[in-house]
Amino acid sequence: MDKKELLELGVVEEGKPKKPTPRLPRREIACQDPKERIKNFNEVALGYTLKDAVYEAMRCLECSKPRCVVACPVHIDIPSFIGLIARGKFEEACEDIRKYNSLPAVCGRVCPQENLCEAACIINDTNPKNPIAIGRLERFAADYLLSQENGNENKIEIRHKTPFKVAVIGSGPTGLTCAAELAKMGHTVHLFEALHKPGGVMMYGIPEFRLPKEIVQKEINYVRSLGVNIETNCIIGKTIPVSDIMNEFDAIYIGTGAGFPNMMHIPGENFAGIYSANEFLTRVNLMRAYEFPKSSTPIRKPKKGVVVGAGFTAFDVVRIMLRLGADEAEIVYRRTRKEMPGRGEEIEHSQEEGAKIRELTNPVRFIGDENGFVKAVEVQRMELGEPDSSGRRRPVPVPDSNYIIDTDLVVIAIGQTPNVLIPSALKNLSTRWGSVINVNRETYMTSVPKVFAGGDAITGAATVILAIRAAKEASRGIDEFLKDPQKKWYPQAFSEKK
Ligand code: FAD
Ligand code: SF4
Repeated sequence: MDKKELLELGVVEEGKPKKPTPRLPRREIACQDPKERIKNFNEVALGYTLKDAVYEAMRCLECSKPRCVVACPVHIDIPSFIGLIARGKFEEACEDIRKYNSLPAVCGRVCPQENLCEAACIINDTNPKNPIAIGRLERFAADYLLSQENGNENKIEIRHKTPFKVAVIGSGPTGLTCAAELAKMGHTVHLFEALHKPGGVMMYGIPEFRLPKEIVQKEINYVRSLGVNIETNCIIGKTIPVSDIMNEFDAIYIGTGAGFPNMMHIPGENFAGIYSANEFLTRVNLMRAYEFPKSSTPIRKPKKGVVVGAGFTAFDVVRIMLRLGADEAEIVYRRTRKEMPGRGEEIEHSQEEGAKIRELTNPVRFIGDENGFVKAVEVQRMELGEPDSSGRRRPVPVPDSNYIIDTDLVVIAIGQTPNVLIPSALKNLSTRWGSVINVNRETYMTSVPKVFAGGDAITGAATVILAIRAAKEASRGIDEFLKDPQKKWYPQAFSEKK
């Protein structure tokens, strides 16, 4: 881009300080029209144009003590990358972010930034509800670089190769980040993934209309370009025994996520047409069942869909139901909208698309037809009682309040827990609640020597950016261990890692 084009975008001349414009309103992001977007699976938020990005970046005060950096779990140098955008240095902006985060195009899209970096932005103090759109600018910079030739290739010089080999199990955000960080430190990294495509929930869980799979694969190619070897279709504990991995590698990082679905355990849950969210989402997102028969995986297309739950997953499912052609699709939730764990933006988008929310309602049984297909769900009204251990008010059943909702497709989206496969195969691995792995708070080492863990596997279902943070901290623990295995590493003090 030449100087004239940059000046036309509003970029000030290089070297001159720009005048911040924090009092201007925050630049909204263009979105597909709700009436159109429920007919396709293309991305809803269209991203910033160059002009939008420069306008928004110009609003940033580039604070010397930035609160946003403290609030970002991986402490991206936010004023630095936004300053680069304001000066028209779009590629450099993304390279700057990649020093802290190998998956910026993903985080710019799915991070709950409204509760993290953007909530801390100082502009909120004087221009309320108008913080710098940090996530959108992060996405812009990442997309810009990925759209350039070689944009998904590493330009960082990798340090001298060490003799150490590390196995990373699971290719979700935590596995990819840990692998990237260790590769940058000069270690040889082999990443094993059970599914046929790497990416974890970013590939099989979060739908294309929120996170395009091409973008995820481009960011994974960046991780590959750091020298990480990714082996798919390989379930550790089945395809390769855990003992072989223990013998072959100097250290192991478990990033196997929380992919085991919670079910309701109420009568009728086995009727056809009732899916766990994991199965439903994997069919649609990873196997592209919405393109059946062009793709090989079918999915039941609902007339009236019901989703049980109100987190990230539930809102993704209800929006998919509408895109599959449902006349009606509704969330059934036992608390109220105030307690919903789903992201505000996703809740709003789902409502624009026609999703309904039935609050203070809990299923008690499913009813099937003569062919064994679900045809209705019996629900009970709830009211809110005293707060429970999560701090949210406990839902309490209202006596004699049951009624029936007709449906032909139900998806249970009430959370996931880590799979027991590795915990049961690895003797002496300390866990809580059966499968959530305990780690030492500082080092991320588990109770088994040379085995580390992070991401949803140690917290239960959480967020992409927390999984990334765990990986970054764990990679430092692993590096320290490899360089000094004689240090007194055991016994470890364990605690819940958040
Ligand atoms: P995962 O992403 O689950 O990856 C684990 C990987 O390990 C998987 O690929 C799995 O196949 C593999 N694996 C498991 N066992 C083995 C084995 N034995 N051998 C080899 N490989 C194995 N978070 C956000 O921040 N924003 C969102 O908008 C958001 N939306 C979400 C929507 C849905 C539908 C879901 C389910 C979650 C969402 N989350 C969101 C949460 C977020 O995706 C997770 O917290 C995050 O992906 C956890 O990362 P992870 O690397 O720990 O695990
Ligand atoms: Fe904000 Fe998340 Fe990006 Fe950090 S990673 S700057 S918290 S959007």
